[in-house]
Amino acid sequence: MTDVAKILLDARPGILIGTFAKSDDEQPEDNNHEVRISVEVCAPQIQEGILLELRENAHDLYRLLSGETPLWLHDLLPSSTNLMLGEATCHCGDSTCPSLLSVREYASQQLAADPMMRLTLMGLPRKELLLSIFGTWSASTTSQTKEIAIVEASLIEEKEKIGPTPGDWLAEAAEQGRLHEPGPLFRDVTIHLSPPEDSELHADDWTPLLQGVPGVQKALRMILKKTADTAEKRRRTWLKE
Ligand SMILES: [Zn+2]
Repeated sequence: MTDVAKILLDARPGILIGTFAKSDDEQPEDNNHEVRISVEVCAPQIQEGILLELRENAHDLYRLLSGETPLWLHDLLPSSTNLMLGEATCHCGDSTCPSLLSVREYASQQLAADPMMRLTLMGLPRKELLLSIFGTWSASTTSQTKEIAIVEASLIEEKEKIGPTPGDWLAEAAEQGRLHEPGPLFRDVTIHLSPPEDSELHADDWTPLLQGVPGVQKALRMILKKTADTAEKRRRTWLKE
Protein backbone atom coordinates (compact mmCIF):
# COMPACT_ATOMS: atom_id res chain seq x y z
CA MET A 1 0.00 0.00 0.00
CA THR A 2 1.38 3.39 -0.98
CA ASP A 3 0.24 7.00 -0.62
CA VAL A 4 -0.93 7.11 -4.21
CA ALA A 5 -3.06 4.02 -3.73
CA LYS A 6 -6.77 4.29 -4.45
CA ILE A 7 -9.41 2.17 -2.78
CA LEU A 8 -11.78 0.21 -4.98
CA LEU A 9 -15.06 -0.86 -3.43
CA ASP A 10 -17.03 -3.91 -4.38
CA ALA A 11 -20.44 -3.96 -2.68
CA ARG A 12 -22.30 -7.25 -2.52
CA PRO A 13 -25.25 -8.33 -0.40
CA GLY A 14 -23.88 -8.80 3.11
CA ILE A 15 -20.29 -7.84 2.36
CA LEU A 16 -18.14 -4.97 1.22
CA ILE A 17 -14.74 -5.69 -0.29
CA GLY A 18 -12.13 -2.97 -0.45
CA THR A 19 -8.97 -3.32 -2.52
CA PHE A 20 -6.16 -0.93 -3.29
CA ALA A 21 -5.01 0.28 -6.68
CA LYS A 22 -2.74 2.97 -8.03
CA SER A 23 -4.60 6.16 -8.87
CA ASP A 24 -3.50 6.01 -12.52
CA ASP A 25 -4.30 2.33 -12.89
CA GLU A 26 -7.48 0.84 -11.51
CA GLN A 27 -6.14 -2.68 -11.42
CA PRO A 28 -5.66 -3.93 -7.86
CA GLU A 29 -2.04 -3.23 -6.93
CA ASP A 30 -1.79 -5.03 -3.67
CA ASN A 31 -4.24 -7.85 -3.07
CA ASN A 32 -2.43 -8.65 0.13
CA HIS A 33 -4.52 -5.99 1.86
CA GLU A 34 -7.94 -6.88 0.59
CA VAL A 35 -10.40 -5.80 3.29
CA ARG A 36 -13.74 -7.50 3.83
CA ILE A 37 -16.40 -5.88 5.97
CA SER A 38 -19.50 -7.83 6.92
CA VAL A 39 -22.85 -6.09 6.67
CA GLU A 40 -26.09 -7.37 8.09
CA VAL A 41 -28.65 -7.66 5.29
CA CYS A 42 -32.06 -6.29 6.17
CA ALA A 43 -35.02 -8.54 6.88
CA PRO A 44 -36.98 -9.86 3.87
CA GLN A 45 -40.05 -7.95 5.09
CA ILE A 46 -38.13 -4.67 4.99
CA GLN A 47 -36.70 -5.51 1.56
CA GLU A 48 -40.21 -6.23 0.30
CA GLY A 49 -41.46 -3.01 1.90
CA ILE A 50 -38.78 -1.01 0.08
CA LEU A 51 -39.62 -2.69 -3.24
CA LEU A 52 -43.32 -2.03 -2.66
CA GLU A 53 -42.70 1.68 -2.02
CA LEU A 54 -40.56 1.97 -5.14
CA ARG A 55 -43.12 0.10 -7.26
CA GLU A 56 -45.78 2.54 -6.12
CA ASN A 57 -43.64 5.61 -6.56
CA ALA A 58 -41.70 5.81 -9.81
CA HIS A 59 -40.38 9.24 -8.94
CA ASP A 60 -38.68 7.90 -5.83
CA LEU A 61 -37.10 5.17 -7.95
CA TYR A 62 -35.86 7.84 -10.33
CA ARG A 63 -34.42 9.83 -7.40
CA LEU A 64 -32.76 6.70 -6.04
CA LEU A 65 -31.16 5.96 -9.40
CA SER A 66 -29.98 9.57 -9.50
CA GLY A 67 -28.18 9.13 -6.19
CA GLU A 68 -30.78 10.78 -3.93
CA THR A 69 -32.25 9.04 -0.92
CA PRO A 70 -36.01 9.50 -0.46
CA LEU A 71 -36.77 10.49 3.14
CA TRP A 72 -38.70 7.31 3.95
CA LEU A 73 -35.77 5.21 2.71
CA HIS A 74 -33.34 7.33 4.68
CA ASP A 75 -35.32 6.46 7.81
CA LEU A 76 -35.30 2.75 6.95
CA LEU A 77 -31.62 2.33 6.18
CA PRO A 78 -28.83 2.41 8.77
CA SER A 79 -26.38 5.29 8.37
CA SER A 80 -23.35 4.64 6.19
CA THR A 81 -21.11 4.85 9.27
CA ASN A 82 -23.15 2.25 11.12
CA LEU A 83 -23.09 0.00 8.06
CA MET A 84 -19.29 -0.03 8.17
CA LEU A 85 -19.08 -0.99 11.83
CA GLY A 86 -19.45 -4.70 11.13
CA GLU A 87 -16.74 -7.27 11.51
CA ALA A 88 -13.80 -6.53 9.22
CA THR A 89 -10.80 -8.58 8.21
CA CYS A 90 -7.76 -7.86 6.11
CA HIS A 91 -6.24 -10.46 3.84
CA CYS A 92 -2.83 -9.83 5.41
CA GLY A 93 -4.17 -11.36 8.60
CA ASP A 94 -3.22 -8.39 10.79
CA SER A 95 -6.20 -7.41 12.92
CA THR A 96 -4.69 -3.95 13.41
CA CYS A 97 -3.85 -3.42 9.73
CA PRO A 98 -4.29 0.28 8.84
CA SER A 99 -6.10 -0.84 5.66
CA LEU A 100 -9.10 -1.73 7.82
CA LEU A 101 -9.58 1.86 8.97
CA SER A 102 -8.83 3.28 5.53
CA VAL A 103 -11.48 1.15 3.88
CA ARG A 104 -14.05 1.79 6.63
CA GLU A 105 -13.63 5.55 6.37
CA TYR A 106 -13.54 5.70 2.59
CA ALA A 107 -16.51 3.34 2.26
CA SER A 108 -18.55 5.40 4.77
CA GLN A 109 -18.05 8.52 2.64
CA GLN A 110 -18.95 6.72 -0.57
CA LEU A 111 -22.01 5.00 0.91
CA ALA A 112 -23.38 8.30 2.23
CA ALA A 113 -23.63 9.53 -1.36
CA ASP A 114 -24.73 6.25 -2.91
CA PRO A 115 -28.04 4.85 -1.61
CA MET A 116 -28.00 2.13 -4.25
CA MET A 117 -24.71 0.82 -2.88
CA ARG A 118 -26.20 0.79 0.62
CA LEU A 119 -29.21 -1.14 -0.68
CA THR A 120 -26.87 -3.62 -2.37
CA LEU A 121 -25.04 -4.27 0.86
CA MET A 122 -28.36 -4.76 2.62
CA GLY A 123 -29.55 -7.40 0.21
CA LEU A 124 -31.11 -5.39 -2.62
CA PRO A 125 -28.58 -5.15 -5.48
CA ARG A 126 -29.42 -2.73 -8.26
CA LYS A 127 -30.03 -5.41 -10.90
CA GLU A 128 -32.39 -7.48 -8.75
CA LEU A 129 -34.16 -4.39 -7.47
CA LEU A 130 -34.83 -3.11 -10.99
CA LEU A 131 -35.80 -6.56 -12.26
CA SER A 132 -38.33 -6.91 -9.46
CA ILE A 133 -39.88 -3.46 -9.96
CA PHE A 134 -39.94 -3.50 -13.76
CA GLY A 135 -41.16 -7.10 -13.70
CA THR A 136 -44.13 -6.12 -11.54
CA TRP A 137 -44.90 -3.11 -13.73
CA SER A 138 -44.65 -5.23 -16.85
CA ALA A 139 -46.96 -7.90 -15.38
CA SER A 140 -49.56 -5.31 -14.40
CA THR A 141 -49.39 -3.70 -17.85
CA THR A 142 -49.83 -7.10 -19.49
CA SER A 143 -52.85 -7.89 -17.37
CA GLN A 144 -54.37 -4.49 -18.19
CA THR A 145 -53.76 -5.11 -21.88
CA LYS A 146 -55.46 -8.49 -21.55
CA GLU A 147 -58.48 -6.88 -19.84
CA ILE A 148 -58.75 -4.28 -22.60
CA ALA A 149 -58.52 -7.04 -25.25
CA ILE A 150 -61.32 -8.99 -23.52
CA VAL A 151 -63.57 -5.91 -23.42
CA GLU A 152 -62.82 -5.13 -27.07
CA ALA A 153 -63.57 -8.73 -28.08
CA SER A 154 -66.92 -8.65 -26.27
CA LEU A 155 -67.80 -5.33 -27.94
CA ILE A 156 -66.99 -6.77 -31.38
CA GLU A 157 -69.04 -9.89 -30.60
CA GLU A 158 -71.97 -7.75 -29.47
CA LYS A 159 -71.69 -5.64 -32.59
CA GLU A 160 -71.81 -8.72 -34.77
CA LYS A 161 -75.04 -9.72 -33.07
CA ILE A 162 -76.83 -6.38 -33.36
CA GLY A 163 -75.36 -5.36 -36.73
CA PRO A 164 -73.82 -2.03 -37.61
CA THR A 165 -74.44 0.85 -35.26
CA PRO A 166 -75.91 4.19 -36.44
CA GLY A 167 -72.34 5.49 -36.21
CA ASP A 168 -71.17 2.79 -38.64
CA TRP A 169 -73.94 3.70 -41.09
CA LEU A 170 -73.11 7.36 -40.93
CA ALA A 171 -69.41 6.69 -41.47
CA GLU A 172 -70.12 4.40 -44.43
CA ALA A 173 -72.73 6.75 -45.94
CA ALA A 174 -70.40 9.73 -45.65
CA GLU A 175 -67.64 7.74 -47.31
CA GLN A 176 -69.95 6.79 -50.19
CA GLY A 177 -71.40 10.30 -50.56
CA ARG A 178 -74.97 9.26 -49.73
CA LEU A 179 -75.31 10.91 -46.37
CA HIS A 180 -78.56 12.60 -47.54
CA GLU A 181 -80.27 9.29 -48.25
CA PRO A 182 -82.34 7.55 -45.61
CA GLY A 183 -80.89 4.42 -44.08
CA PRO A 184 -82.10 0.89 -44.92
CA LEU A 185 -84.43 0.73 -41.94
CA PHE A 186 -86.34 3.71 -43.29
CA ARG A 187 -87.48 1.62 -46.30
CA ASP A 188 -88.70 -1.12 -44.01
CA VAL A 189 -91.20 1.18 -42.40
CA THR A 190 -94.68 0.77 -43.93
CA ILE A 191 -97.53 2.98 -42.89
CA HIS A 192 -101.06 1.76 -43.40
CA LEU A 193 -103.60 4.54 -43.34
CA SER A 194 -107.25 3.64 -43.25
CA PRO A 195 -110.22 5.72 -42.14
CA PRO A 196 -111.83 4.66 -38.91
CA GLU A 197 -115.34 3.32 -39.09
CA ASP A 198 -118.14 5.58 -37.85
CA SER A 199 -118.61 3.36 -34.88
CA GLU A 200 -114.97 3.88 -33.96
CA LEU A 201 -115.40 7.60 -33.59
CA HIS A 202 -115.36 8.29 -29.95
CA ALA A 203 -116.05 11.91 -29.32
CA ASP A 204 -115.22 13.33 -25.94
CA ASP A 205 -118.13 14.54 -23.85
CA TRP A 206 -118.21 18.31 -24.36
CA THR A 207 -121.64 18.84 -22.77
CA PRO A 208 -120.31 20.10 -19.40
CA LEU A 209 -118.23 22.71 -21.25
CA LEU A 210 -121.16 23.95 -23.32
CA GLN A 211 -124.06 23.78 -20.92
CA GLY A 212 -127.35 24.99 -22.38
CA VAL A 213 -126.27 24.44 -25.98
CA PRO A 214 -128.41 21.74 -27.56
CA GLY A 215 -126.97 18.99 -29.75
CA VAL A 216 -123.32 19.44 -28.64
CA GLN A 217 -122.36 15.78 -29.04
CA LYS A 218 -124.16 15.50 -32.39
CA ALA A 219 -122.26 18.54 -33.73
CA LEU A 220 -118.98 17.16 -32.43
CA ARG A 221 -119.52 13.83 -34.16
CA MET A 222 -120.36 15.69 -37.36
CA ILE A 223 -117.09 17.65 -37.16
CA LEU A 224 -115.14 14.42 -36.55
CA LYS A 225 -116.85 12.75 -39.49
CA LYS A 226 -116.14 15.66 -41.85
CA THR A 227 -112.52 15.81 -40.76
CA ALA A 228 -112.16 12.07 -41.24
CA ASP A 229 -113.74 12.28 -44.70
CA THR A 230 -111.36 15.06 -45.71
CA ALA A 231 -108.40 13.06 -44.46
CA GLU A 232 -109.59 10.02 -46.40
CA LYS A 233 -109.89 12.08 -49.61
CA ARG A 234 -106.33 13.31 -49.15
CA ARG A 235 -105.13 9.79 -48.54
CA ARG A 236 -106.69 8.59 -51.76
CA THR A 237 -105.18 11.54 -53.66
CA TRP A 238 -101.72 10.62 -52.32
CA LEU A 239 -102.17 6.97 -53.19
CA LYS A 240 -102.99 7.93 -56.81
CA GLU A 241 -99.84 10.02 -56.96
ZN1 LIG B 1 -3.77 -5.68 5.75
